[in-house]
Amino acid sequence: MNRVRFAPSPTGYLHIGSARTALFNYLFARHSGGKFLVRVEDTDLQRSTEESTRSILEGLKWLGFEPDEEIVFQSDNADKHRETALRLLEQGKAYRDFTPKDERADGDVKAAIAERAREQGAEKGLRDNPYRDLDRTASDARAEAREPFAIRLKVSREGKTSFDDAVYGLQEREHSDIEDLVLLRSDGHPLYNLAVVCDDIEMGITHVIRGQDHLTNTHKQILIYEALGIEPPIFAHLPLILAPGGKKLSKRHHGEIVSLTTYRDKGFVAGAFRNFLALLGWSPKSEDEILGLEDLIEAFTLEGINRSNAVFNFDANNPRRWTDDKALWMNAEYIRTMPLDELIPMVRSELRSEKLWREEYDDEDRVWFEMVVDVIRERFFTLKDFSEQGRAFFSEDFDFDPAAVAKHLKKRPKLEEWLPEFADRLEKLEDFSHDPIYEAANEFCEEKDTKLGILLNGARVALTGQAVGPSMITAFELLGKERSVMRLRSKVAWNEA
Ligand code: GLU
Repeated sequence: MNRVRFAPSPTGYLHIGSARTALFNYLFARHSGGKFLVRVEDTDLQRSTEESTRSILEGLKWLGFEPDEEIVFQSDNADKHRETALRLLEQGKAYRDFTPKDERADGDVKAAIAERAREQGAEKGLRDNPYRDLDRTASDARAEAREPFAIRLKVSREGKTSFDDAVYGLQEREHSDIEDLVLLRSDGHPLYNLAVVCDDIEMGITHVIRGQDHLTNTHKQILIYEALGIEPPIFAHLPLILAPGGKKLSKRHHGEIVSLTTYRDKGFVAGAFRNFLALLGWSPKSEDEILGLEDLIEAFTLEGINRSNAVFNFDANNPRRWTDDKALWMNAEYIRTMPLDELIPMVRSELRSEKLWREEYDDEDRVWFEMVVDVIRERFFTLKDFSEQGRAFFSEDFDFDPAAVAKHLKKRPKLEEWLPEFADRLEKLEDFSHDPIYEAANEFCEEKDTKLGILLNGARVALTGQAVGPSMITAFELLGKERSVMRLRSKVAWNEA
């Protein structure tokens, strides 16, 4: 059975690239009837925070990826990682490096070691650590004398590592390009590559699906698998997600656009964002773009992952295009077409958080509420639009779009008189429904010798604060006689700057 894992480092929020890694792991597991596991790689003690773990897990939950087994915390396994390093030392596959700490750059054989080695006349290169071939008895004696040491993997001088990546094909790397990587620091702290390999073995991982930025690590990890005499899993590296212009999408340069929870907080529907993420670097065989979770699970294969990097297109300076256009389009598509009973709870929580929710919407006004949501969703892009552009349907306290006021009211000064007059007509209607409202509006315009559009566009601004929205007659009906009449008579919009 396939077993995959999503292994975030809790050193920040959930990056959308990592969210996509989680998604691909999840889809792969579900497609093949395997297990999806989560491992929190909290071994970087300085940078890992509980806050970050919480926000990452929250993001996964929002996307709907519950792990099939208990979450593994890498730091809980440190003893096992240490034992493994010691075993490799015991077997002569690793060695003690006694280079004093201040001369050693953590994790790598860096300049200091090379320098020291040169001083000692050793040949230049990645295998020139003077302790690599230190006699075993001498090494034991120094350890015995409590001289601090790191443990490094003894990478053989000749040969190369290779693996067949499920996305990028055959990958090879000469050993001469890889340093004798540190497995255990002198303070006993196991390092990243060792920890990952030990945990992947322990968790029975069959496929490692992760970002392409890990390719270099993979070669090192393969060397550890070889030293342990264990068959490595299958690797599938994922293309990067780039910003427009080809830069890597990063928090430093692109801010909150990179964080998954931004999308939740800005009113994305989880299913829509999942759908969008899936298409960043993967293509189904069909032309379909709108793919629900079940469709994605059915269609997902590693073969469908693209080798070329994906681009996340956005224009941070344009408020309507702050995120990828396609993501926004997709979200609108979900909002417009999803079953109302799935949408209603999302709208409810949006209205709740903006203090616009009334219990009646769930009770005696339920039918009305559903009708409103169904009508106004037609033009909405995010769930936020229900409390912003749609605010006038749920509150008397709504804003007027200044451009709409200028174009549809102030440019037609006669409307200042006409709208209240039209309100008087509407007030007299006994049956406040579509046809009578429509007739009244037509009659009114004939009398005033004006176009229906002029009256209705002005009325739309007065009633909703917006220049666009549902059909105006429908808006009258939904708002009801009392509110329509009151807003047509109101001077508030006219007094707006
Ligand atoms: N913890 C690593 C990261 O967040 C992922 C390691 C892995 O998937 O092997 O980039």
